[in-house]
Amino acid sequence: MSDTSTPYDIAVIGAGVAGLSCAYFLSQHTRVVILEQEDQPAFHSSGRSAALYIEGLENPVVSRLTKQSKEFFTTPPPSFTQCPLLHPRGGVTIAELDDESKLDKFLETWSPTNPDLVRISVDEAVAKVPILRKDKLSGAAYDSSWQSIDVHELLMGFQRGLRANHGELRCNAKVSKLSRASSHWIIETSAGELVANTVVNAAGAWANDVAALAGLAPLPLTAMRRTAVIIPAPAAAKDWPMVHTVNNNLYFKPESPGFMVSPQDETPSEAMDAFAEELDVAIALDRFSQITDHSFSTVLSQWAGLRTFASDRHPVLGFDPRCEHFFWLAGQGGYGVQTSPALGSLVSNALNNNAEIPADIRVSRFV
Ligand SMILES: Cc1cc2nc3c(=O)[nH]c(=O)nc-3n(C[C@H](O)[C@H](O)[C@H](O)COP(=O)(O)OP(=O)(O)OC[C@H]3O[C@@H](n4cnc5c(N)ncnc54)[C@H](O)[C@@H]3O)c2cc1C
Repeated sequence: MSDTSTPYDIAVIGAGVAGLSCAYFLSQHTRVVILEQEDQPAFHSSGRSAALYIEGLENPVVSRLTKQSKEFFTTPPPSFTQCPLLHPRGGVTIAELDDESKLDKFLETWSPTNPDLVRISVDEAVAKVPILRKDKLSGAAYDSSWQSIDVHELLMGFQRGLRANHGELRCNAKVSKLSRASSHWIIETSAGELVANTVVNAAGAWANDVAALAGLAPLPLTAMRRTAVIIPAPAAAKDWPMVHTVNNNLYFKPESPGFMVSPQDETPSEAMDAFAEELDVAIALDRFSQITDHSFSTVLSQWAGLRTFASDRHPVLGFDPRCEHFFWLAGQGGYGVQTSPALGSLVSNALNNNAEIPADIRVSRFV
């Protein structure tokens, strides 16, 4: 399909949670189209996440953006969804035998800004998650504010809103060339050519590839594979909190139809349709077996997805100073779902109202 007659104000490249959230907010003010190479949105990272909302995560910038997203999650616009987007989960952080000092550091880092985070005894941790092996633990903490996100409903809400605002989503439309002609971009896709004044690069692991189409050298972004495995769980487990090691080498949480277990791997990868490597699956199950006494004989499913980090592990937003009307929305790492309302609305405010992007996430820190 060719559509060069009526320019869009904005073309967003990539229909993961990043592209959908910013297109949703942008469509309230402008004529926007999202272009997605796959035959459905959220096929890559956004459809493969652990669906968690954790305020004390990663670094203060991510924590701030997560907290800024909370109001949208708890009170979305009435037309957005009829279902709650957040569900209480709770999170137990455990220290294994030699990791007590790491637990102290974890509490020092996060409890000043996260009042729900408290130290608990090993017995209390085992009472919350009875399969934990007491003899393997030296300490624990609990944060009642960890929640599960209904990611399906979030993505559907963004798409419903986009449609209601006359925005367009085009799947099977891989962007293959970007050329700047006077005041607009000519965008060649596998579904034809179109014209837009501004391009938003929300291509996840492919963000540097899309930038290259516009002649831009890459930013320090690295896609890293993360593995997830589903194993059977006891029936009572569905209400248990998530468990996470303070070493960041294992988490597990109830996820229908069992437990989702991840070795928290971060293996650099090319942009691709990621899949779980057998070694990472084996590592996840071995670590799980060392700290629990839950036996299982089968793996129900497994997958992997790419989490793309900037070198400072902050998101990357803003107009590229090297290229007119080329806007980055990248580097959402392992927090792109829980920060999507804040990031989407920051992009919309920047493009519609010239609002400033905060310096600690602005693209100009790299170029
Ligand atoms: C196992 C795992 C657990 C995670 N857990 C959490 C969690 O609990 N909470 C949380 O907040 N985050 C979590 N994340 C991170 C989160 O999933 C990502 O931060 C988020 O999905 C990134 O969204 P995105 O839209 O940037 O990327 P993507 O969802 O990958 O979307 C980018 C899109 O761009 C498209 N694209 C690329 N190139 C082109 C092109 N040339 N033309 C057209 N389209 C193109 C791709 O097809 C893709 O659909 C997790 C990730 C993984 C893998």
